[in-house]
Amino acid sequence: MDNVFDYAPAPESRAIVDIKSSYGLFVDGEFRDSAAGHGFKTVNPATEEVLADVAEADEADVDAAVKAARRAWTRVWSRMPGAERGKYLFRIARIMQERSRELAVLESIDNGKPIRESRDVDVPTAAAHFFYYAGWADKLGYAGFGPDPQPLGVAGQVIPWNFPLLMLAWKIAPALACGNTVVLKPAETTPLTALLFAEICQQADLPPGVVNIVTGAGETGRALVSHPDVDKVAFTGSTDVGRAIAKAVAGTDKKVTLELGGKAANIVFDDAPVDQAVEGIVNGIFFNQGHVCCAGSRLLVQESVAEEVLERLKRRMGTLRIGDPLDKNTDIGAINSAEQLAKIRELSDIGEAEGAGRWSPACDLPDHGYWFPPTVFTGVSQAHRIAREEIFGPVLSVITFRTPAEAVEKANNTPYGLSAGIWTDKGSRILWTASRLRAGVVWSNTFNRFDPASPFGGYKESGYGREGGRHGLEAYLR
Ligand code: NAP
Ligand code: MG
Repeated sequence: MDNVFDYAPAPESRAIVDIKSSYGLFVDGEFRDSAAGHGFKTVNPATEEVLADVAEADEADVDAAVKAARRAWTRVWSRMPGAERGKYLFRIARIMQERSRELAVLESIDNGKPIRESRDVDVPTAAAHFFYYAGWADKLGYAGFGPDPQPLGVAGQVIPWNFPLLMLAWKIAPALACGNTVVLKPAETTPLTALLFAEICQQADLPPGVVNIVTGAGETGRALVSHPDVDKVAFTGSTDVGRAIAKAVAGTDKKVTLELGGKAANIVFDDAPVDQAVEGIVNGIFFNQGHVCCAGSRLLVQESVAEEVLERLKRRMGTLRIGDPLDKNTDIGAINSAEQLAKIRELSDIGEAEGAGRWSPACDLPDHGYWFPPTVFTGVSQAHRIAREEIFGPVLSVITFRTPAEAVEKANNTPYGLSAGIWTDKGSRILWTASRLRAGVVWSNTFNRFDPASPFGGYKESGYGREGGRHGLEAYLR
């Protein structure tokens, strides 16, 4: 693009993080090798450089972690007054702030997301979750769940790779505030910030066993959610794995919350402020490379303004900078793994084969690592797979509508129901539309905003249960 300034490279230094060559499991307050001695490697998806060897927990390791969590729960954490638990959570939150640059750099290296996002969104929002739930720890009797609600016990928590530290915070902060202890499994491709968080627990003098981190892949997750001494399962990930977990816990008295996939509609009405809407569309689908469960992956735009919106959207996409995640000017970083890249390519090729029009701005992609250009598909019909299936990448499907009723019908025509967006000048139209959308979160004239005080969760195949806010306490209380 000739109208784009050339920015000089502005790389964040990686010297602030000390990445070890190998990492153990965090069990009972200490790092230890896996019992069988197995491990796996985590790589930097922007370069394919191997970052570290990480221990892989098997059933015996998971059992040791659950036992440590149970001991810590019985002897210490369930007996501790809420105000004391709150002090630990405040301390963890403050250390996360103090070490925020280190956490942000490490997150960008292990995950591939731009430093601008890990620094300005992931890490501060993760710390905010700990601050927020720290405040609840001594007020649970006033949360609307009876005068003296009780913790459940040991929580087994499994999280995905798209927001590694933030998803950890969503899981661990409310669990601990309510008096539960946890065993958490981070995703195979992004274990490093969870292990740095384990160090932060040590630094905060958190009693051993209150937080345990078991690294590994799907098998480790399976062992954790099916462990008989786990009282509560919290999962964020794909709908397929969510289904398998629902089956595994059926017939037990484990409590379960599932946060699954999405295919959100971002609805732009003819009276919307176009430039703001275009920023919202870009933020909705290109934030975090589109690796966002609540991404606005279906743009529903009113026919009378579709041409104008698309033209401005394409112009804006031409200014997005793709490349080194550690460069402070980067807008779009690397795709998290070779597998995810293959999935995005496959679905995009299917979109083309189904007859939709594919467009990406001209951009130079780095030679190494996993990259995919921001892409928009026009002429998409509701039957197309790219309109129905979650792509989980920087790929937008554009569908048009004529009337508000048609917009609502098309927006709800999905097996998912996690989020939606509305762009219009009229408050009445926002309320009319929002009340008809079957989605857990509806943003109006903004998108992808997260706040610890606000509950988050899905309808239909996007899962059940809520995380965040006062609602998020319920999943961890009896
Ligand atoms: P995934 O394959 O379902 O993996 C999620 C986690 O579950 C990973 O830690 C994974 O281990 C583990 N796992 C795999 N098989 C398991 C099993 N049988 N039992 C227990 N755990 C198992 O999902 P993903 O591809 O990592 O993440 C992308 C998906 O997450 C998308 O569909 C996205 O929409 C969803 N998501 C939802 C939300 C939300 O709040 N609703 C938020 C973020 C993401 P590995 O380490 O081997 O992968
Ligand atoms: Mg990695």
